Amino acid sequence: MIELKINGVVQGVGFRPFIYKLAIEEKLKGYVLNNASGVEIQVEGDEFSLDRFLNRIRTELPPAAGIESFLVKEAGNIGYEKFEIRLSSKTEGSTLISPDLAVCQDCFAEFNDPDDPRYHYAFINCTNCGPRYSIIESTPYDRPVTSMKNFEMCDYCKQEYTDPLNRRFHAQPIACPVCGPQLQFLDKTLQAQKGDPVDLTKQAIKAGKIVGIKGIGGFHIACDAANLKAVAELRKRKNRLDKPFAVMTEFANLQQIVEFAGKHEKLLKSPIAPILILPKKAGSPLAENIAPNNPNLGVLLPYAPYHFQLFTEDLPFLIMTSGNRRDEPIAKKESDLMEICDCFLTHNRPILNRSDDSIILPTENISVILRRSRGYVPTPLKSPFPLIPTLACGAELKLSFAVSNLQEYFLSPYLGNSGSKETMDFYGETLENFQRWFRLEPRLIVCDLQPDFATTRFAESLALPLIKVQHHHAHTAAIMAEHLLDEKVIGISYDGTGYGTDGAIWGGEIMVADYAEFERKFHLQYLPLPGGDAAIKHPVRIAYAYLTKFGIDPDFLTGISEMEKKIISRQLQNDFNLFQTSSMGRLFDCVAAMLNLYPAITFEAQSAMALEFLCSYEDVLAEKPYPFRIAENEIIIEPMLKEIAESIQIKIEKKTIAKRFHRTILEFTLQAVKELQAETGLSKIVLSGGVMQNRIILDGLTELLSRNNFTVYLPANLPPNDGSISVGQLMIANRIYQNKRKK
Ligand code: ZN
Ligand code: ZN
Ligand code: FE
Repeated sequence: MIELKINGVVQGVGFRPFIYKLAIEEKLKGYVLNNASGVEIQVEGDEFSLDRFLNRIRTELPPAAGIESFLVKEAGNIGYEKFEIRLSSKTEGSTLISPDLAVCQDCFAEFNDPDDPRYHYAFINCTNCGPRYSIIESTPYDRPVTSMKNFEMCDYCKQEYTDPLNRRFHAQPIACPVCGPQLQFLDKTLQAQKGDPVDLTKQAIKAGKIVGIKGIGGFHIACDAANLKAVAELRKRKNRLDKPFAVMTEFANLQQIVEFAGKHEKLLKSPIAPILILPKKAGSPLAENIAPNNPNLGVLLPYAPYHFQLFTEDLPFLIMTSGNRRDEPIAKKESDLMEICDCFLTHNRPILNRSDDSIILPTENISVILRRSRGYVPTPLKSPFPLIPTLACGAELKLSFAVSNLQEYFLSPYLGNSGSKETMDFYGETLENFQRWFRLEPRLIVCDLQPDFATTRFAESLALPLIKVQHHHAHTAAIMAEHLLDEKVIGISYDGTGYGTDGAIWGGEIMVADYAEFERKFHLQYLPLPGGDAAIKHPVRIAYAYLTKFGIDPDFLTGISEMEKKIISRQLQNDFNLFQTSSMGRLFDCVAAMLNLYPAITFEAQSAMALEFLCSYEDVLAEKPYPFRIAENEIIIEPMLKEIAESIQIKIEKKTIAKRFHRTILEFTLQAVKELQAETGLSKIVLSGGVMQNRIILDGLTELLSRNNFTVYLPANLPPNDGSISVGQLMIANRIYQNKRKK
C-alpha cells in the first residue's frame, strides 16, 4: 500500500475526481480525501500500476492544480475492496483557495452546443474553471460558504456534483439556467429592463453607450473600441485624459490589432487570462484615442462565459477598463458607477472579493507581471527562509500587502493606486479576509519609512512590534525573494520615489544588500525637486530646477509659465520647499520635458514612457553614451544634461537624444557595478523598481551585464513596481527580528 500526502492548489480544482479516475483506470483500490492541508490518498494494487499511477499524477495534473509537496510512504496492505472519494471531515486548519479561472475548453464547447442544457448559459463552470476567490466567504471552500449559497442546486446539477467521474464533481459554483445565477440588463437608474440582457447590452454598445459590466472579480466599463466618440466620452466621464485602455477581443480578431507570437497566445489563453501589453498593428480598426501616443496596446481575451456573447461581426472589439472611479478601487456594485455608465449588464451573484485584471508585459527576455491580481490571488508564495507570522503593509501607489505564516506568504491583489479612504477600506476588508481564511495572526508588523503614507499610519496603529524598512531595500529584497536568494547581492533599484534614511527622496540606487541590511554604494547625484508632488505632475518644473542648478540656460523649455519660473527660482535661492532627490524617475521626467514630450502629465510615468517609445533596445546598445562621472558614491549626470541641452539647441533629433540617454544609464550602471564587483567580489545582480518597467532599461541591463559575466535576476513573477514592495518588507523585517532574537 502507498500513502500519499499532496499539498498545493489541490482543492476546488478537480483534483479528487482526477485521482479517482486514475485509480479506476489503473485498477487500484483505496481512497482519496481532502484534509486540512491538502489531499490524502491511500492506494493498493500491483506494483506496475502503482508506479504508473504516481507518474500520471504529475504528468496529467488538471490545468488549475499545482503541487507544492508530494510525500510518498509505503505501508502494509489493508485490503480495500474499491476506490472511493471519501468526504472530508470539517477539519481545522487552512486550505488553499484557488484563484478565479477563465472558462475552460470543455465548458466553452458545451456553452456553444445548442443541445447542451447549459447552451449559452452565462455562468457555466466546472472543477477546472470558473470563479473561486471572488465567491468565497470562508474556508474550507464549500458551497454553503460561497456566494452560491442562495442558489439551490437542481437535480441535474446535483447528479453531476455527486458523480465522482463527472467533470463537475464537487464543483462548488456548479449552476445551470434552471438553478443558477442570471444576467440582467439595468438602465441608468438601475431599473431592470425586459428582453435578452446580452442583446440589450450589444445594442447599447453599438449605439455608442458606455456600459458597466459586472464580471468575475469586479466591474468593467465597456464601450465600442472602434467608436472614437464613445471612447472620448468614456475618457471624460472617467476623468482619464490619456492613460491607455485595455481592449477585449476574441482570439480570431486579435491579429488585426496587435503583433504577437506563440508564447503570447499561450499566456492570453491561460486560465489567468491576463491583459498582455503588445505592439499595436499598423492599420488597426481601433479608435486612435484608446492608447494615444503609445506604440503598445493592452489586450485580453474573453474569460467569463458571457464575455464571448458580447462580440459579433459588427462589434469585434470592446474597451474593457476597470470599473472604478478615479483613486478608488474596482467597484462591486452598480451604484458606484452610476455617474459613469449609461446602463449595466449585471447578475444576481454577489462579488465577495474583488480583483482587477492582471497585467503582463512581455520583454525580450521574460514576461514581467506588472499587476498581480485576478488569476494569481490568493495563491501563496514560497519564502526563501522560515518566517514568523508577519504583516507587511506596503507603500501607497500600486498598493498591496503581504501576510505570512511560517513558510509561505500571501500577496494581496492590487488594491488601488492611492491612500484614499475607499482604497484603505478595501485594504482593511481584504486583510481581514486573508487573516481569517488562512488563519494568519501576525506577530510582527512592517511598513515603509515614509511617515505620511496611510499604510504607515495603519501599521503604527497596531499594537505590535513594528519595523520600518527603506523603500529600495524592500524593492531589492522582493526580487531576491522571488528568486529564493538568501545571500549578499548587488541591488539596482531604479524607481520613482522612496523615502531615504537621510530624509531625501531616493530612487536611483545601487546597493549591496541582503535581507538583514543594505549599504547604499552609488546613487544618482542629488538634485533639487521643487514642491514635491506638484512637480511630479509637471515634469517641466523638474527640468527647470535641474538645469538652473547646473547653470544651464533653461530658456528653451516650453510649457512653463513666467510665474512658475519665478516661483521655482525663488525656491532654489532660498532653499524653500525643496527636496533633494536621487530619483531615476525624475531624471526621465527632466529629459522628457527638455525634449518637450510632456511638460505636464496626466498619469504616472507618462513622460518616461514617451522617452522609451522613441527608441528600441537593439539600437540603443549601438549608441554612444553621454559623458558622466562617478565620484565616490555619486553618479554625476551634470555633463550629460549639459550635452543634451546643447544637442537640443543644435536641433539633433529627439530620437537620437532619447537613445543616447538610455545608453548612458546602461553605461553608468555597468561602470558602477564593475567597481562594486572589484570591491566586493559579488556578481549576482538583482533588478527592481518602477523604472524596470522600461523595457530598454530592463533588457538593456540584462544584455550588457550578462555580457560582462554578471548573473542578472529579473522581476518576473513579482511586479518590479511598488506592487511587490510588501514582499521585500516582509523578508527584511523577519530577518532583522530573527537576528535580534538570536542575540
Ligand atoms: Zn470548465
Ligand atoms: Zn442546475
Ligand atoms: Fe518604488
